[in-house]
Amino acid sequence: ENLYRIPGWGEPYFSINAAGHITVSPQGDRGGALDLYELVEALKKRNIGLPLLIRFSDILADRIERLNACFARGIARYNYPNVYRGVFPIKCNQHRHIVEALVKYGKPYQFGLEAGSKPELMIALATLEPSLSEKNNKSQPLLICNGYKDKEYIETALLATKIGHKPFIVIEQLEELYLAIKISRQLGIEPNLGVRAKLSTKGVGRWGTSTGDRAKFGLTIPEILTVVTELEKEGMLNSLQLLHYHIGSQISAIGVIKDAIREASQIYTQLAKMGANMQYLDVGGGLGVDYDGSKTNYYASKNYNMQNYANDIVAEVKEACEEAEIHPPVIVSESGRAIASHQSVLVFDVLGTGEVPVNPPEALQEKEPLIIRNLWDTYSSIDVQNYQEAYNDATQFKEEAITSFNLGYFSLKERARAEQLYWACCQKILQIARQQDYVPDDLEDLEKIMASIYYINLSVFQSVPDSWAIDQLFPIMPIHRLDEKPTQRGILADLTCDSDGKISQFIDLRNDVKSVLELHSLQDCDKLGNHKPYYLGMFLVGAYQEIMGNLHNLFGDTNVVHIQMKPKGYEIQYVVRGDTVTEVLSYVQYDAEDLLETLRRHTENALQENRMTIEESQRLLKDYEQSLRRYTYLVDDAQ
Ligand code: PLP
Repeated sequence: ENLYRIPGWGEPYFSINAAGHITVSPQGDRGGALDLYELVEALKKRNIGLPLLIRFSDILADRIERLNACFARGIARYNYPNVYRGVFPIKCNQHRHIVEALVKYGKPYQFGLEAGSKPELMIALATLEPSLSEKNNKSQPLLICNGYKDKEYIETALLATKIGHKPFIVIEQLEELYLAIKISRQLGIEPNLGVRAKLSTKGVGRWGTSTGDRAKFGLTIPEILTVVTELEKEGMLNSLQLLHYHIGSQISAIGVIKDAIREASQIYTQLAKMGANMQYLDVGGGLGVDYDGSKTNYYASKNYNMQNYANDIVAEVKEACEEAEIHPPVIVSESGRAIASHQSVLVFDVLGTGEVPVNPPEALQEKEPLIIRNLWDTYSSIDVQNYQEAYNDATQFKEEAITSFNLGYFSLKERARAEQLYWACCQKILQIARQQDYVPDDLEDLEKIMASIYYINLSVFQSVPDSWAIDQLFPIMPIHRLDEKPTQRGILADLTCDSDGKISQFIDLRNDVKSVLELHSLQDCDKLGNHKPYYLGMFLVGAYQEIMGNLHNLFGDTNVVHIQMKPKGYEIQYVVRGDTVTEVLSYVQYDAEDLLETLRRHTENALQENRMTIEESQRLLKDYEQSLRRYTYLVDDAQ
């Protein structure tokens, strides 16, 4: 388990069973478990092929429950005289089944939604259940309206109060204030207003610039004061009830979270003292996910747990409010990543591998060129004392061999011989280097150079765009054969014709990233590359990846299934078929019928000119038609 550090990032949902397969326990320690490999096989029998995104609904429910339980414990521990109300930021994963499940599982906790755009507001209004009881019903889920807002957005949010929703219009730009005042006056609806503050607390990591004076969203302190003055002038200061901030996603250091809440609590109490009707403090997102399981403040991890997070927020707000003699607010948070990541597992198959061609070199022949003799001498003398020097020598001799070839002094055979000797040197050196505690810097690349390439049936651009765009680390490992020691070290290359379409960053047990992943060799490989299926899983991919994925090379959405645990086994709740070729072509304005018709005409011309037989033309048309209906990924017809 330690090789891939499952206990670090996977507990309590993922572990390894006696069969050497990954076990999923969607309800954590409280419920049943299922064998991920067997689940994939069972789904394949139902014609739901790989690549496949599996969403475990019970994990989603468990995440919501955990977050609420952590805040409840924090509130009890500090005797906090108010409540916690979470909202889910829809941007994190807008898919209908997920948002609906969130609302359903969140109901006991009055868990609400956050919309960051007009389309997301429309999802929220149609998914949250309106309350039929009196206005400002305290137990009603909140609807936080963030993002850029035009007249229509504000009008819709205001009118939604009439059907029993509880929207908060969060002013992120001053113009929105004037619009909100004007429209609420026209409609005669008293708005629930919030302000988003640009904190001066510095964020950390990839999203660290979400805060500070130059942040894209939010109001500076002078602008917040303008909001107060303007609302006062209009006799509407009572509408200002909420303070919001967001210092960026995946905050890896608890110190930053504490600094932010301290600063925000001061702003909150001051606003209350200035006469605003302050009732809610919305701390935004940022609650991190431990992608590498190291429990450190490394960017892919976090040095705190959910309980520390909740405790610190509750304690800091309480202290600031007590000092200021202000009634403590309802605490709102907008955790997306921490709620949605764990539920989704992406399973994909390996299509084949490419190895560095290392063969034991043939003995040195008489009269071989000097460069070859030098390479041979280097190869023969490698040992633990000289392996670093030998690597530099071998690299230099190989470069000389290529220069000689380019100048016409070396034949193709001589170049091949030089390259073989070079690879043989590298392999010998690598075996020695792996035994050492310390690997010299100039040998770090050797693992990468010697890595096998595992060709995977997946598009990185479609399924894990953050891995490509911002080098985000996700746990990746085989989902079976885990009772067998992996013998290979590889990188993953996807289906796209793009050299960026690869994954070469993996969890490193030294709390860093490493460039190769321990993998098994493919079994029963024949010359055509036919082998027993080898499945890899990528974990914690439920937040942001799906919606940001793109259609590079026209690889479309993957198949998706929702699995729900039952007292005996599981139920396949939903199947969402991945895009067909016809569908992705339509996204770029091609009509499948037109394409087929054009091809038919071309085959008729070829028939008339005797360039093709009728059987060949029929076969081509049949293949084309069949591909149009199929999955965009490689399909194994033999299975
Ligand atoms: N709230 C706002 C305003 C955001 O911009 C984001 C995303 O960055 C979130 C909440 C969700 O953050 P996280 O996924 O870190 O919980």
